[in-house]
Amino acid sequence: MNEIKIVNCPVCKSKQSTHYITTNALMHQSNNEHYVFNKCDSCDSVFLTNPVQELKLNEYYTDNYLPYKGAEAWGKYKSFVKKIQENLDLKRVQVVANNLTTKPFSILDVGCGSPSFLEAVQKKLRANCTGIDFSDNGWKNKNHENISLIKSSIADFNPNHKFDVITLWHYLEHDYNLQETVDKLYQFLNPSGKLIIEVPDYCSITAKKQKQFWQGWHSPRHLTLFSKKGFQKLFTSDKWSVVRHKRFGTLDAFTLWWLGKMEKKKSDWSSSMEREFWPLVFLKIISFPFFIFEKALPMGIQLIILEKK
Ligand SMILES: [Zn+2]
Repeated sequence: MNEIKIVNCPVCKSKQSTHYITTNALMHQSNNEHYVFNKCDSCDSVFLTNPVQELKLNEYYTDNYLPYKGAEAWGKYKSFVKKIQENLDLKRVQVVANNLTTKPFSILDVGCGSPSFLEAVQKKLRANCTGIDFSDNGWKNKNHENISLIKSSIADFNPNHKFDVITLWHYLEHDYNLQETVDKLYQFLNPSGKLIIEVPDYCSITAKKQKQFWQGWHSPRHLTLFSKKGFQKLFTSDKWSVVRHKRFGTLDAFTLWWLGKMEKKKSDWSSSMEREFWPLVFLKIISFPFFIFEKALPMGIQLIILEKK
């Protein structure tokens, strides 16, 4: 097995943890892979105790990986799905706009993938945009004027200026060196800047309901799931202050829940999603009375905004 054994909590380094959940590989055609998540006795973070080596991760990011296929996976309904993606980017632009302290401003998006969010920022807010990602698959062969796109890990990234806003949309749960990453983010952020992080919320209703099928585990790609206490340990109060911590985010909790339902019925993730379109629309309608409480009850996504002390 190409596994690493993690004993210490990646957030607070405590050695004391308790088994929390075991999952198969998710959103992946696999048989019996067992991923064991423990919950830290000290900071309540839930972490993967047997992640695959970082170099082996590409086996889980194949051409059939649904987020890579994007709207194209939905065949004749792709324009609807594209619209949903555009709306998500606009919601994220709005979060940035609501947290600006200076204008014009510079922004760094960590794990930018296909940089549609930065394109939307550029278009709506005219920022100085930078995106980094460990892979350039999201932007190569495309022309992105006015956006600086760099193939780099956060550890190797050495920008020549600081940023007014740094965004991590579903990046931090994938990170292999959390404390080093947080130190880098501190270095990169301007004194008056804002750090915006969105991650899954394992303390949510959808996580409790869907158990090992919940897509927030996304094993083995997700390594750490955060609690409020975990954030406090990672973003220590001598350096950081929390501006806002919301138990909902920009990603629709319904989408996360729907992916978990697909996982449970052993969906073939490599096939076209076209025939899933109308069942999805139907589910969206009947679950509306439940997800209408998304802003009142934790449904699966959390957003935290921090600034330097
Ligand atoms: Zn811990």
